[in-house]
Amino acid sequence: MSDLDHLKEQRRGLMIVLSSPSGAGKTTMTRRLLAQDSQIAMSVSVTTRPPRPGERDGEDYYFITKDAFAELEADGQLLEHARVFDNYYGTPRGPVEDALADGKDIVFDIDWQGAQQLTEAAADDLVKIFILPPNMRELEQRLRTRAQDSDDVIAKRMSKSENEISHWAEYDYVLVNENIDRAMGELLSIVTAERMRRKRQPWLSGFVKRLIDGG
Ligand code: 5GP
Repeated sequence: MSDLDHLKEQRRGLMIVLSSPSGAGKTTMTRRLLAQDSQIAMSVSVTTRPPRPGERDGEDYYFITKDAFAELEADGQLLEHARVFDNYYGTPRGPVEDALADGKDIVFDIDWQGAQQLTEAAADDLVKIFILPPNMRELEQRLRTRAQDSDDVIAKRMSKSENEISHWAEYDYVLVNENIDRAMGELLSIVTAERMRRKRQPWLSGFVKRLIDGG
């Protein structure tokens, strides 16, 4: 590892929030982002909703009871939490603080309520990205193709989608996911640019001093 690489390790990780209505492709994009960049960790939320087929405890979510959720909340162990549909969701605080202290970036797949709470708690470390579907027909199609929810759950999710979308202007960046490869390119560009912000490279002042001192 070069001297420069060592210096660059002195960074504070970025908190990347991805929000979208259900079915806009956020989960796929999050997975791809994690697969492509080993410096990024995922914040695994706790939820009281039951697992969908194929979902794994500890990977997609920590599936917990309402009592366990209330206990975490009362203990101050959740960085943010929200009720979505009839279930509760929250971000465990510990893993996020560890990842940031380690200089890792961390991705949050959370809704607008969570994004607002993180803005209050940690605005400086936060980059908020909203993903829009190309149209509502496509959104419904994606929910149906996923075929893991019943008709009335899908109808409920569609009606909630409009509410989620109405919060688009609270985000720093907005992507329209018409083509997953293009949207991924856009997402990676955002992450790269945000990492280059001067305030996120605290090692620079020492580096520049050495440059000027002839080092
Ligand atoms: P789903 O049940 O489809 O996995 O998620 C429903 C919604 O809850 C999605 O918009 C997702 O982003 C949001 N969500 C998942 N985990 C959290 C969390 O920890 N906090 C908040 N505020 N929202 C979450």
